[in-house]
Amino acid sequence: MLHTTGALLTIDVTDGTAESHPIDAVQERFIGGRGVATKLAHETIPYAVDPLSPANSLIFTTGPLQTSTMSFTGRMNCTGVSPLTDGLVSSNAGGFMSRTFAATGYGAVRLKGAADELTIVHVTDTDVRFEAVPQLTDATVPETCAYIAETHGLGSEHVACIGPAGERCVRFAAIMTSESRAFGRGGLGAVMGAKRVKAITFDGSSAPTVALPEVSMEVHREAATSDHIMKQQGTTSVTELANEVSALPTRYFSERSFAGVEGISGDRVAEKKYKRGTCSACAFACKLPTRDAATGIETEGPEYETVMAFGSNCGVDDIVDVMRSNALCDRYGLDTISCGNTIAAYLAAEDRFGDTALITELVEQIAHREGVGDLLAEGIARAHTELGVEDWTVKGLDFAAHDGRALQGQGLAYATSNRGADHMYATFYAWEYPLVDAAESVDREGTAGKAAAIIAQENARALEDCGVVCRFSRGTMTPERYESLFDAPYDELEAVGASVVTLERDFNNHRGFDRSDDTLPYDLPDFDASLDAYYRLRGWSPAGIARAGDDMVAD
Ligand code: SF4
Repeated sequence: MLHTTGALLTIDVTDGTAESHPIDAVQERFIGGRGVATKLAHETIPYAVDPLSPANSLIFTTGPLQTSTMSFTGRMNCTGVSPLTDGLVSSNAGGFMSRTFAATGYGAVRLKGAADELTIVHVTDTDVRFEAVPQLTDATVPETCAYIAETHGLGSEHVACIGPAGERCVRFAAIMTSESRAFGRGGLGAVMGAKRVKAITFDGSSAPTVALPEVSMEVHREAATSDHIMKQQGTTSVTELANEVSALPTRYFSERSFAGVEGISGDRVAEKKYKRGTCSACAFACKLPTRDAATGIETEGPEYETVMAFGSNCGVDDIVDVMRSNALCDRYGLDTISCGNTIAAYLAAEDRFGDTALITELVEQIAHREGVGDLLAEGIARAHTELGVEDWTVKGLDFAAHDGRALQGQGLAYATSNRGADHMYATFYAWEYPLVDAAESVDREGTAGKAAAIIAQENARALEDCGVVCRFSRGTMTPERYESLFDAPYDELEAVGASVVTLERDFNNHRGFDRSDDTLPYDLPDFDASLDAYYRLRGWSPAGIARAGDDMVAD
């Protein structure tokens, strides 16, 4: 089975030391990416850890495909205990850092401890250096990238950094790479901020070579020649369809379709797109560099999730306003989904939907924990009581944009996800929309009979994250192509994905998570019976407790 190579580099920023040791057995078992990082987290992070304490870790990993030239591989993984969900999360970012990371020759890089002052950690294939940077306190993401470019000659593709939000441990702060790409969900930027690490850079010329079969060229050719609408509109191509089937959360989840959808649709985004945007090696190029000539706002995106969070969910019907919010979140290092949803909660409390000036002010206040921003920086689950609004989260993570009340298998998947209400964990929504390219579409009504299919999708997504393969390879990366690329039968590969899900669950069970956390703020038909079926098929107890095998779980 194809897997990553290269040692684990453990960096203790408390005393400025680094050491490496081989992790071959872990790599052979878990391939790379989220799998290797989850296993390492399980072995090294204490179950009872405070996410913002020095004992938490950030574990960066790529997969075995990140040294190739195949499309859909310009992504990498970061894993740690989330200050937002309080469980283990793996976050996935695109951009160009997967290649500069792979060039260090390490298979995984783990940050632990906490520095005395703000620090940049420089990792190369020959050494690890620690640079005190108190002058970068409160620096934005572009300012931090500019400093590193000027003083070290490293472009933003070498950099993972935080902005003011991460420094202030905003619970949904992102780690930004390639300046505009985010390890967004779960607040790992706050973990980096608690470690007083402003940035980590990767550089070298020790990337392992990987010889992929001819099928990798087939994938690349298909990515290049595809006429998929995502190439023009990215994920916003689904906005109007979601609205039509009442799956577009609106005005803090109080409605599910938005009268102003036309102003924030994929067509409006495409009008603002001024050049192609992509990730390393990817000919699909679905990214969205956008610019508005009238206001001078320039950003990358917004993606569909941001269109929901800062658009319909905030009652905003002008794509330029959503672009402004997107740009501010990237600048300050904030997850756009959680930031927009949390602001929507505040707008609901104050009955000020559509107040774009207030939204801009709130993003600033959250990033700097000023005024009410200090409360909102805690996220919806911790702030909703004081705000006097409903808690629209699962496990502390606020909902993504594909509404589970309309796409009800996706609703069940939000409940079962170890990461909380995250659409990328199973991407079950993709099978419930009436899309022409969904060969195996599923009736979106109800949850009965969907548990097995959700498990299959969760396992497939976990396998992608081990690879690391982009979600949008859907339709191109068939099981047969996985078998060819990874040199193993698909059932063995899918079993790796299943092991990763179970390991995450086991870690979270040790932190007190159980069935009572797999809940939704709304009712779905047959929900309890479907949850029972899900646990049974996973081999977990009716209380949602995983039984990870001895080969997976550290003593
Ligand atoms: S499909 Fe889009 S998000 Fe995925 S790697 Fe390619 S450009 Fe990046």
